[in-house]
Amino acid sequence: MTINVLFLGPQGSGKGTQATRICAAHGVPHVSTGDMFRAAIAEQTALGREVEPIVAAGELVPDALTVALIRDRIAKDDAQAGFILDGFPRNIAQAESLDRMLEVIGRPLDRVFFFDLDDATATTRALERANREARVDDTPEVIARRLAIYHEQTAPVVARYRATGTLHEINAARSVDDVFAEISAAFGWLAR
Ligand code: ADP
Repeated sequence: MTINVLFLGPQGSGKGTQATRICAAHGVPHVSTGDMFRAAIAEQTALGREVEPIVAAGELVPDALTVALIRDRIAKDDAQAGFILDGFPRNIAQAESLDRMLEVIGRPLDRVFFFDLDDATATTRALERANREARVDDTPEVIARRLAIYHEQTAPVVARYRATGTLHEINAARSVDDVFAEISAAFGWLAR
């Protein structure tokens, strides 16, 4: 049995928090492109040096780099029982690449969870996070830029999965525990 799931939603909608909890409970890897880029930057690898200014500005890393990263990651042993992708795909080109990758390995997506949150709450949450974590991209200007890119490029990805019927919409303005309970129930059902 495999569970292949996407978490989509704006900045501050709680994707990372929920993915960490769900992955711990279900033993599937949490594949976050943002975490992978931040790790590469911290380690100052060739990839890290290349993407550092892009991530700091809140712009999207070029698709070729991002898609290659995901392709390698989901080929690893620990991802053979499934994965939660968090922060990918972020535009239509990435979604099309993901479709092709999953088709080749014969593993369709089981569910796309969309964390729905208004911009004002998203901004407040991202700014609150800036006080806890030292993320270079959690400044008011860069948060606004990331949200603008979200609406321009990622919202069409949400619409795409809504059209294919795999979308589970979540009201992400609720508490972490309430959102976790809803996703857990859906996971229990998927894992039957
Ligand atoms: P958030 O969702 O809060 O913006 P992430 O941790 O998902 O944060 O991403 C941080 C940054 O990493 C993005 O602003 C972007 O520069 C880069 N990044 C992450 N995922 C992708 C992706 N799928 N495509 C391009 N760039 C990405």
